[in-house]
Amino acid sequence: METIRNYINGEMVEPVGGAYLDNINPAIGEVYAQTPDSDEKDIENAVQAATQAFPAWSSTPAHLRAAVLLKIADLIEANVDELALAECVDNGKPLSLARSLDIPRAVENFRFFATSIIHFHAESHVTDGVALNYTLRKPRGVAGIISPWNLPLYLLSWKIAPALATGNTVVAKPSEVTPMTAYKLSLLCQQAGLPAGVLNIVHGTGLRAGAALVSHHDVPTISFTGGTATGADIARNAGPMFKKVALEMGGKNPNIIFADADFDAAVRGSMRSSFANQGQVCLCGSRIYVASSIYEKFVDQFVAATKKLKVGDPLEKDSDQGAIVSKLQLEKVLSYLQLARDEGGHIHCGGGEATVAGARCKHGYFVEPTVITDLPVDCRVNQEEIFGPVCTITPFENEDEVIAYANDTDYGLSASIWTKDVGRAHRVADRINAGTVWINCWLVRDLRVPFGGMKQSGVGREGGQEALRFYTEPKNVCVRVPSRP
Ligand code: NAD
Repeated sequence: METIRNYINGEMVEPVGGAYLDNINPAIGEVYAQTPDSDEKDIENAVQAATQAFPAWSSTPAHLRAAVLLKIADLIEANVDELALAECVDNGKPLSLARSLDIPRAVENFRFFATSIIHFHAESHVTDGVALNYTLRKPRGVAGIISPWNLPLYLLSWKIAPALATGNTVVAKPSEVTPMTAYKLSLLCQQAGLPAGVLNIVHGTGLRAGAALVSHHDVPTISFTGGTATGADIARNAGPMFKKVALEMGGKNPNIIFADADFDAAVRGSMRSSFANQGQVCLCGSRIYVASSIYEKFVDQFVAATKKLKVGDPLEKDSDQGAIVSKLQLEKVLSYLQLARDEGGHIHCGGGEATVAGARCKHGYFVEPTVITDLPVDCRVNQEEIFGPVCTITPFENEDEVIAYANDTDYGLSASIWTKDVGRAHRVADRINAGTVWINCWLVRDLRVPFGGMKQSGVGREGGQEALRFYTEPKNVCVRVPSRP
């Protein structure tokens, strides 16, 4: 059985307290590795290493920092099969998805920010005849990075890459539920020649290692992706210390289908946005709103397509759906299926645990993809993030009504609109309160665009220039220019 180590000051080390947590492969329900159950002493060691590494790393020319990050990207790419398998075993997602989406996107994150930093430009402002102002962007010091389990390496690298590119050093705390790819990344960083202490990865729970990182005096920047309740906790702890905090949190995203949409594309797109990664993507469009004139046809075809999804062993090529990440998450999803029944929902397909053929997965955590109709828009199932392969479908009569439905939630992460009417598409996109609105697509990502949520989905933006700004502190220098003769 593999034992994961912390990566501190360039070394693979045991947790100071010697305690470990079990890692469970959710497809088979068995322990397959041990991960450090680190505490504040490990965080302290990592912060000290990062603090010591900061002067040299922050003054390393950008093109040399970029070169190391590009090397890390190349190594991830060269090890895509091993990393995809690790992510599949850790998380339960189909191997094909880890291979085609998660790991390639981690490569892109490192490449994108390594090259962006070389082109990052400073601002200057001329105050007519009086002064020239120029703005330096200085790395802020040690960045504390906390990431979730649903897209483990992708979301960790999404934060690590811009933090390092801008000259910060990092202490990262990956999800304790899926630590394996972060561990493998630390081995690749050693191989790439990343200087000791520049990146430190400390494994453990949120309540011990995560909270110690958030409240550490010498960590002025916190970037978090995870649930909204955790984000609130982090905001409470980091606020009085005046830290710069980015919170990327939960979603309950509307997926709106107008009568004039390309019907087949809308069904296909909605299948992906409902069930990709077993519905465990913060951007999943779990609330589907369909124009009443095509509602019945849509429900029929969507349910028929859902019934064809194969829930299976994540290692098998033809599995569309893998396992739910943990027993706890499985129980949460099942409790919402019961709630849907209690709230009067009509379950067209799914509605419970899935049985997977073969002996290997008989103790795994699998849920049937589930489609529910006839629920009021303000019921809990339509308001709370379930984070599983569960979606609801609701008819609407007109544009104003569906915009009101879409916005009627505490979340504001993303939305999708399906229509051929260009005017309507832009009009509706403008009125939906969400950080990202997709028109006739879903999960198309361009790393240059700002990414984040409104309302309880997030505070701050990352992605592209926004990320480079987030991890740097602007410092204005004002130079008096000689007055005209
Ligand atoms: P989570 O909030 O339980 O955990 C996320 C991370 O926070 C983990 O590393 C955890 O150990 C740590 N943590 C927990 N309590 C902490 C505390 N008190 N102090 C510091 N750290 C703490 O989230 P999860 O269950 O791992 O992930 C699922 C959630 O993440 C969903 O709500 C999903 O919508 C959200 N998510 C959001 C985005 C986004 O970009 N907005 C992306 C992916 C996932």
